This record gives sequence, structure tokens and C-alpha cells, in this order.
Amino acid sequence: MSRSTCEVSQYLPFHRPSIEQEEIDAMVDVLKTGWLTAGPKVREFEEAFAQFVGARHALAVSSCTAALHLALDAIGLEEGDEVLLPALTFTATAEVVTYLRAKPVLIDSEACYFTLDPNRLEESVTPRTRAIIPVHFAGHPCDMESLMDIASRNNLTIVEDAAHAFPAKYRHRNIGTLGRLTAFSFYATKTLSTGEGGMITTEDDSLASYIEMMRLHGMSKDAWKRYSAEGSWRYDVVEAGYKYNLTDMQAALGLVQLRKAEAMRRERARIAALYTRGLAQSHAFRLPEVSPEVQHAWHLYVILLQPGSLTIHRDVMIEELRRRGIGTAVHFIPLNLHSYYQTRWGYRRGDFPVAEDYAERCLSLPLYPSMTAEDVDRVIESLNEIAYKYRT
Ligand SMILES: *Cc1c(COP(=O)(O)O)cnc(C)c1O
Repeated sequence: MSRSTCEVSQYLPFHRPSIEQEEIDAMVDVLKTGWLTAGPKVREFEEAFAQFVGARHALAVSSCTAALHLALDAIGLEEGDEVLLPALTFTATAEVVTYLRAKPVLIDSEACYFTLDPNRLEESVTPRTRAIIPVHFAGHPCDMESLMDIASRNNLTIVEDAAHAFPAKYRHRNIGTLGRLTAFSFYATKTLSTGEGGMITTEDDSLASYIEMMRLHGMSKDAWKRYSAEGSWRYDVVEAGYKYNLTDMQAALGLVQLRKAEAMRRERARIAALYTRGLAQSHAFRLPEVSPEVQHAWHLYVILLQPGSLTIHRDVMIEELRRRGIGTAVHFIPLNLHSYYQTRWGYRRGDFPVAEDYAERCLSLPLYPSMTAEDVDRVIESLNEIAYKYRT
């Protein structure tokens, strides 16, 4: 083995998707059927997903971003409306609001689980506020009871961004059954992956049939069948829709991943417990907290560097870990620090102290089912070693 191959094999990436022979076989089987885009496999995936979550409807789409866009379109969001969402999220959560010419209104996080702070929502409600998009950050469900109280008091709709939260529970209820609409992501780094993909769940029949029509060009129901034996060539376009469908190839991958979803969640929970045990003694790191009311999806394991106990900034920590062959990530740079949200919406540094302080000190560790106990030990030992090297 050459030296360079050896170094590559020792690199522990931040993420590695859990793709096994089963997934590969399922993809090959779809290719052999000759039906590549949305078809019978998508239907099967939707039914299996709805059953898994316990939702009445599950609609497969091309991404979580598409899911959020369709959800906001379905609730009738209009130009000039306002939507409350956390500053500490990925830009997708907010950009979809602007697709409909509405305004994203950013809210700070609470300082324990770093999800949307319910105590800061109502001060931002105006007569134009229509919806709240809570993000179940890192896979830890938000305080849904408080959010649902605020929503019903102010006549707001909850559209959940559950990109991190599959599978997860709040008070024994699955995420995907709580808000009016819930959007999931099957992006490459998420807990269930189809490469790119997403899903919307809802209990509402009319929202579901609107979304089903809009995700494929606003064509009348079952138009996707028009090239199959039982379909008709005749179709009607009833709205100016979108091209947001999932493909049968992706759905085949999703079906296999769905069968393993609970086992993969348990594996991630096991790794998270190993991190917590291995880092508990260190004063340099604050470890993630878990509310007794939730089942965590453990999409991310985020540690915070404790102020005063290290002489280095988080960015140096990332570099030190990289030199030791360990990949890490930062989730997220708060939206108010990005140039678009500053120039278009007037946000500034300093607007959201909890989210900004978090973002200066946070570090997401590798967390995926194929990690071995040795991999986890290596991350823990490296962190402890670096913390000792740069102790105050
Ligand atoms: C990944 C992510 C999204 C977008 O998901 P896509 O499937 O890539 O569109 C939305 N919100 C959050 C919080 C995310 O992390």
C-alpha cells in the first residue's frame, strides 16, 4: 500500500452515507424496470414513509427545500406576509419564504437545546405574520407545546423543518404528525438519504392534493401515469406548478434506508452516548443536552468550546482535528451574519446573541452508523489531547 493510500484510509470524514449492497441492488432493479422517474416506487416509498411516521399523507419531492416551498404555497402565503423562523438554521429554511415574496423574520434560539426560543416569538408577531417554521435543530425536537400554543393564540400555521429530525419524537409522538405540514430532507448528509430528496407529511386531505398537483407542473391527478399501460395520454394543467418530483431510483434507495432507519438511529444514539461518556470529564467542552420529553434523531452531535478554558478559537480546533485526520463541521453560521440577509432584510451582527455566541463556539463531530468504536475513541482522544495542549 502506498503512503498516500494509507493516509486517505485513515482520514475519518465528517460524514459517510450508509449505502450497502442492498441499496445498490435496489437501484439496479429499478434501472432494469425501465421506469426511471416518479412511478410505482415513489408511491411505495410514500406509503411506507406515511406508515412509519403515522401520518395520513406523505408526498415525496426532490428536496426539503422544495417541500418547504410547496408547504408555504399550499397554506396560501402571499406577498408581504411574514414568517417566523430561527436565525440558527440553513438558508433553505428562510429562502423559501422569499420564493413567495414574503418576509423571513428571524428569531433567536434558547440557550439549552438551541432551538427556536418560544419566549421571543410573540414580540415579533405583526398583523402580517402567517406562519412559524420551527427547525428541530441537530435532531432535537423543538418545544412544540409552547409553539402550538403561540400559533393558536395568534392564528399562525406551523410548518416544521424536520431536515434533521428523522426519526424523532416529541412526547412519544413522531415528528411528522404534529404541525400542519412537516418537511423532511433526504440530502446526502442527512439521516436517511436518497442523494437528493424530500418528503412532506400532513393530515390535511386538501393540502395534500394541492401539493400533489403542484409538485408536477400543476397537472391533474395521476398525470404521472400518462406513459404507463393504465394511464391516459389526456391531462389537464390546472395551475402553474413546479418540477419537484422524486424519481423511482431515489425512492428505491429510500425504501431500503427506511427499513433500516430505526436501527441506524439506535447506532447514532450509541455513538452519541460514547461521546458523552468520553468527553464528560473535560471542562473544555459543553456537551449537548437532551430534554426528557423527546427522542433525539442524533443527526448532529454538537459540542461547544467553553469560554475561558481554551487558549484557541474553534477555527483552530477544526484545523488541529483536520491535521489529525478528523473531519468536523459548523452548523450553522446564523442567517443574520450572511450578506444577503443583511443587505435585503437589514439584519446585523449582534441581533441574535444566543445564536451568534453558539456559532462562534460550536463544532459538529462525525456521527454516522458506520463509525467503529475505535473511530469514536480517536475523536475523543484527539479532542482531549488538543484541549490539554491549549489549556488555560
Ligand atoms: C439540509 C437542510 C435543509 C435543506 O434540505 P435539502 O433537502 O437539501 O433541500 C433545510 N433545512 C435544514 C435545517 C437543513 O439542514
